[in-house]
Amino acid sequence: MMALFEGGTPNEPGAARALYERALGEPNAALRWCVDAANIGLLSRAVRELDATTALEVVLPAHDEAPDRTVVADEGMLVPTLRRLREQRPEGLAFTMTNGRPYVLPPPALDISTNDLCGLKCIMCGNRASRRDPHTISVDDVRALVDEAAAWGIRRVALTGAGEPFRDPAMLEHVAYANARGHLVTITSNGFPISEKMAADLAQRNVSISMSIHGATEATHDAIVGVPTAAEHAWRAVRRLVRARDGRPDSKLRVNVSSVIQRDNLGEIPALVRRAREEGCNGINLQPVNLQHGFLKAGAIVRRDDIGAMSRLWPVDRAELDRVFEELSTLKPECGRFLHASLERLALLRRYFDDPSRDALGVTCRVGESFLAVDHRGQIKPCYRLPWSYGDARFQRLRPLWNSEAYARTRALVESCPLTCMNNCFFRKEAAS
Ligand code: SF4
Ligand code: SF4
Repeated sequence: MMALFEGGTPNEPGAARALYERALGEPNAALRWCVDAANIGLLSRAVRELDATTALEVVLPAHDEAPDRTVVADEGMLVPTLRRLREQRPEGLAFTMTNGRPYVLPPPALDISTNDLCGLKCIMCGNRASRRDPHTISVDDVRALVDEAAAWGIRRVALTGAGEPFRDPAMLEHVAYANARGHLVTITSNGFPISEKMAADLAQRNVSISMSIHGATEATHDAIVGVPTAAEHAWRAVRRLVRARDGRPDSKLRVNVSSVIQRDNLGEIPALVRRAREEGCNGINLQPVNLQHGFLKAGAIVRRDDIGAMSRLWPVDRAELDRVFEELSTLKPECGRFLHASLERLALLRRYFDDPSRDALGVTCRVGESFLAVDHRGQIKPCYRLPWSYGDARFQRLRPLWNSEAYARTRALVESCPLTCMNNCFFRKEAAS
C-alpha cells in the first residue's frame, strides 16, 4: 500500500500535488492518505481522478484522551467534504484513524428531547407525564447542543423525544436558533398546541413537522390515542400548517403525517395515505407498532416482548395484512416520494408482521452510525428503546465520545441487538456471513 502525507502535508507550493502525482504513477492498487486541513482539497480531486479499482484509505489524525474520549483533529472542517466523498464513492473508500480504529462520520442528525410532557394516552406508548420534569435541560443547554452539532458538521436536529415538543414554551425559539446555526429541524407533534400564530411562525422556518395521526377516521385515531377530539385537533393543525406554508411561496415548511400501523388501524392505512394527500401534506411516514423492550445484561442486549400489549395491538389477520400491503404497493407508484416507504420497505413491514425476529427479517440495526440522542434530562442515548446512557450531555461532549473506544463497543452491541424496533432508516440488510 502506498502511503501519502504520513509526516504531514508539505508547505511548499505544489509539493503536496507533486507527491500525489508521483503516487499516481506507482503501480499500486491501494492508497493510504493521511488527511488534514491542508490536503483535503487535493483528496477531493483524488477521489474524482483515481481509478475505481484503487482502494483508498483515508486516515484521520486522532488522539485517545480516555476510553470514552477521542479527539479527531480538524474534524468539523473535514466532515462536510468527507460526507460528500462517501456519497461519491460508496465503495472502495475507508475512513480510519491514526489510533487504528475505523472512523465513523457524525450521525446525520442529532435528536434532542427538550420536554417529556404529553397529554395523550396512546395505547402503544407508556408516556403519561403530566408535570414538567424539574430536571429537564434548560434553553441554554439545548442551544449548546445545537451549537455542538453544527460545529461537528451535523446539519439536522430532531427536536422530538419523549413528549409533545410544542408543550415546550421555548420550542419556536429553539427552531429559530437551530435554523440560524444552519440546521433543518424535524419535529413530531400530536397537533394540539399548534395555533394559527405558531403555524405562521413555522412557515418562515426550515422545518419539517410530522403530525402523528393513527387512522383515516376520527374515531380510530381518538381511540388509539385515548383522547376524544384528538383527531380533530391533529387535522386542524395540519390545515393550519398547510395554509401557512402555501401562503408563503418561499416557505421551507414541510407538513407530514406519521402513523404507527397496528391492529386497530390496519384496514384504514391506505385511506389515511389518500387523506393526507388530499389535505395537502408533503408526505406520510409509516411505522409498524413495536412492542419489544430491551435491557442490558452481562454486556449483551436482551429482548423481552410485551406479551400483554401484543395480544391487543398486534395485527393478526393475515388476509387483511396482505390486502392492505398490496394496496399500499399499488399506491406507491402514484404517490412516489409522498409515501416515504419504498416498495422494499413495504415488503419488509409486511414480513415483520408475520415474524419480527431478526433472523427472519435478515436485517441489522445501524443506529450505532446513524443516530445519537440526548433526552430531556440531558442523558446521551445511543437509542431510545434501551435503558442505556453515556452520561449527561451538560458535562460530557458528544463529539469526542462518538469515535471513542467505548462507543466502538456500543456500536458492536447495536450490530448484534436482538430487537427489531423498525425505527425508520435504522436498518440495513444483514451482511452475509
Ligand atoms: S403522543 Fe407520543 S408521547 Fe404522547 S402518548 Fe402518544 S406516542 Fe406517547
Ligand atoms: S434495534 Fe437498534 S434502535 Fe432498536 S433497540 Fe436495538 S439498538 Fe436500539
